[in-house]
Amino acid sequence: MYPVSLRFQRTYSLNDTKEKIEGIFQESWAGYHALRRGDSILLKPNCLSAKPPEAAVTTHPTILEATIQLLLDHGCRVAIGDSPALQKLQNVAKKAGIMPVAEHYSARLQSFNDPVEIKGPENGIFRTFEISRHCLEYDHFINLAKFKTHTMMVLTLCVKNLFGCVPGKKKAAWHLSIGEDRGLFARMLVELASVLPVDFHLLDGIVAMEGNGPGNGTPTTLGVLMGGENAAAVDMIAARLIGMKPSDLPTCRAASKIGAGPTHWEEIAVLGDPLPSSPLPFKLPSPTRTDWGLPGILKATLSRFLLPFPHVEKNQCKVCLQCQEVCPPGAISLKNGEISIATAKCIRCYCCQEVCPEDAISFKRRLIR
Ligand code: SF4
Ligand code: SF4
Repeated sequence: MYPVSLRFQRTYSLNDTKEKIEGIFQESWAGYHALRRGDSILLKPNCLSAKPPEAAVTTHPTILEATIQLLLDHGCRVAIGDSPALQKLQNVAKKAGIMPVAEHYSARLQSFNDPVEIKGPENGIFRTFEISRHCLEYDHFINLAKFKTHTMMVLTLCVKNLFGCVPGKKKAAWHLSIGEDRGLFARMLVELASVLPVDFHLLDGIVAMEGNGPGNGTPTTLGVLMGGENAAAVDMIAARLIGMKPSDLPTCRAASKIGAGPTHWEEIAVLGDPLPSSPLPFKLPSPTRTDWGLPGILKATLSRFLLPFPHVEKNQCKVCLQCQEVCPPGAISLKNGEISIATAKCIRCYCCQEVCPEDAISFKRRLIR
């Protein structure tokens, strides 16, 4: 059985959050009681982009503060690390309220740079991954993910948050080599998560993001905190809370397929608060339907037409060029002072929408190109 602890809480009160996280650690983290004085621990929040905590783009600073207090109570030393999509970690951490927490508790803020190669899983299809060497330098590693929608992967939860261990623009290389195949991208994420030395996954869903996540969706009070040692198991319970089937989530499908997570709900022991009798209201991103139950070749052909293309709302665009910088195949250019997207080159990775600070990129289906 995969233990996953669940707690309902609707505010970021520090004392309540600390108490709930401690309960989750005690129930579902076998190594929690074995933490020793002097152990070094790496915390990996979601630091996608420089937005304030109430925007729900990043892991809330109270989650970090409560976790750090618990670890300091054990005499551990703590560092915080991530690799934002484009901006410097320091800038993101400052805006997201994480920097003051790091400074207050003398936790090192570590940018995930310096790539090193690690082997993929034995039963995997990806032989190697390049991750930041800093992910391998600590005695323990805690994934502090945020509950958000994701236009490409439907939701970004614990498995997807670990893609941040791939340094900076090396993430674009994965998008470029995998292209539009979401199943394969999910498989890559799961295989990467399975070889990272992560001790525990905690998911911040007190205020989650619905709609057009992960960068420009709508904050919504979902009121949940959950955690476990298996990333896919935690993600499965998160999906279940909002009424999704595990098969609706590409990463859960991929994890089941390669034995990196549970196949059925029955393999997960939900501890702490019971699952609610009806799904929590939650809006998924609009272009999420990526698997139409069609044979592979037909699906690949139709996806070219049915998957929406990015569209720039010109009156919202401030021509900051961040979308151009992040676009893996170089499909975005500046023409006559306006952003132009070459649809023939676009691989529908949605990275441009993810980083746009003005929420100026939406997606439209086109039946004719
Ligand atoms: S990131 Fe957004 S605001 Fe900046 S140039 Fe692209 S569309 Fe315009
Ligand atoms: S235009 Fe946007 S969706 Fe298309 S490949 Fe570039 S970043 Fe990805």
